[in-house]
Amino acid sequence: MSKIIAIANQKGGVGKTTTSVNLAASLAVLEQKVLLVDADPQGNATTGVGYDLKELKATIYECLVDGLEPKEAILKTDIENLFLLPSNIDLVGAEMLNFEEKESVMAKVLAKVKDDYDYILIDCSPSLGLLTVNSLAAANSVMIPVQCQYFALEGLGKLLNTIKIIQKRLNTALEIEGFVLTMYDGRVRLSNQVVAEVRKHFEEMVFDTLIQQNVKLAEAPSYGQPVILYDAECRGSVNYLSLANELLEKNKK
Ligand code: ATP
Ligand code: MG
Repeated sequence: MSKIIAIANQKGGVGKTTTSVNLAASLAVLEQKVLLVDADPQGNATTGVGYDLKELKATIYECLVDGLEPKEAILKTDIENLFLLPSNIDLVGAEMLNFEEKESVMAKVLAKVKDDYDYILIDCSPSLGLLTVNSLAAANSVMIPVQCQYFALEGLGKLLNTIKIIQKRLNTALEIEGFVLTMYDGRVRLSNQVVAEVRKHFEEMVFDTLIQQNVKLAEAPSYGQPVILYDAECRGSVNYLSLANELLEKNKK
């Protein structure tokens, strides 16, 4: 069975891309065949696995807008089993699409390759615009990174409301895979308060794994590497492997 998970939160800088890249890499290391879909014109997931945005020959944009076969745009990465559907700034144009069923284009594109993978992870942009709506419409579930910082819960109501509307109108099967607490620092009282608050609010929907603050996670993208290639022993690698194991366990049949 293959599963499409959108990694979304319209709040910027909460760890969507770090989670997409490193969860995808960890699942691949755990012998899952994984497609990482970059659905953000910033292209951070694309550079995060080592590609230069200026040298891409085809991107998700052409798949969404010109009907290019996704297989023609999908790239290999340095991790066996991990593949990338890249993006760059061109994707901004897809926010302005205006044709029939414009919310379901991503679902149609991913349906063409879905059976080739165990997991497809979509790194969403920090907005609730058309691209994120497309990603949520295409997904089986949504994973929501929450940063252990001030105002962590701010904006979540709006996101959950958008998810409800999509469940009603576009994708009745969309589930919430869970909330992932990111950039946790156990020495800081605020971090622990956020964890307690999010767990109280969302209970068993919160993953047990905490993604700790770890400088290696911030350094790895500048080398174009998931953290597991950059430093397999660091806390970031251990945390994302644990998250991957938790996800696999949860989805075991
Ligand atoms: P955007 O909304 O712009 O797409 P995002 O939600 O994808 O942002 P990231 O790019 O993953 O967020 O993370 C924001 C910044 O925080 C990045 O510089 C990243 O390297 C850093 N970062 C993310 N997670 C951690 C962590 N656990 N420890 C240390 N730094 C982190
Ligand atoms: Mg991002």
